[in-house]
Amino acid sequence: MIVKKITPRGFCKGVYNAVDIVKKSLNDLTLPRPIYVLGFIVHNKAVVDELTELGAITLDDRLTSRLDLIKDITKGTVILSAHGTDEAVKEKVLSNGLTLIDATCNDVYKTHDSIKEHLEKGYNIVYIGKNNHPETNASLAISPKVILIETLEDLDRIILKEPIFVTNQTTFSINDIKPIHEKIEKLYKNVIITEEICNATRFRQNAIIEGNKDVDFCYIVGDPRSNNSKNLVKISIEVTKTPTKLIESVKDIDLTDLQGVKTVSVSSGASTPNKLTQEVIDFLTSLKN
Ligand code: SF4
Repeated sequence: MIVKKITPRGFCKGVYNAVDIVKKSLNDLTLPRPIYVLGFIVHNKAVVDELTELGAITLDDRLTSRLDLIKDITKGTVILSAHGTDEAVKEKVLSNGLTLIDATCNDVYKTHDSIKEHLEKGYNIVYIGKNNHPETNASLAISPKVILIETLEDLDRIILKEPIFVTNQTTFSINDIKPIHEKIEKLYKNVIITEEICNATRFRQNAIIEGNKDVDFCYIVGDPRSNNSKNLVKISIEVTKTPTKLIESVKDIDLTDLQGVKTVSVSSGASTPNKLTQEVIDFLTSLKN
């Protein structure tokens, strides 16, 4: 069996930076203890587990808001995750007397800046993203004038007020965003559309489209919570028509998936440690068929 390694894959610059910030903070003995991370620093359990072993305390509960997670904490340092955090949470961290460290990716802040700039100019904002994802929550929290659109069908249910400025979650699918843009353009006249999928996401998605030619099966290594990993799976299935599975590690490989497979491709999300992907590649390469 041929194992095709798709590149680029794995950690992006924003993830490297966020993980590095947590590690450096843990080593910085001048920072007040404990060191909390608000939300998964990046969406990968292996990364979070490693940082926990090093001493970080991740505060995460999908049913509890970030504001509620920190409301009773009055001692220590709080690191904000790479996905961005709403301003009210930052204010609460500071008013509780905690030390604030921000690991938000610059590409997420670019989107926030463009939202704020267009709100000041009087635009209503359409944010194309995934509901209840921390990056989306942080963007929606900027103003009630930021309206979430997740799917094409949402545009049939929601009537938007012009003028409209359209932006999006950085890890959205390049395949799904185009028809949403086209439909908005058809429905509304006074509209500015920007496409703010980050380069790390775009390059990984395009690499799947290019790399999956003549491939029988594809593995994406990533966490089920990782939006960019799930979108790699979606693109692989929908655009390249390749049977594809999201796996967290080599342990999730089901050999029955590989029956009759001559070429298998492997890629990984922007929050997946290279070690996990390499173990998958090594295992597949060792198979004799
Ligand atoms: S996927 Fe994009 S937005 Fe998210 S951390 Fe990486 S570079 Fe930043």
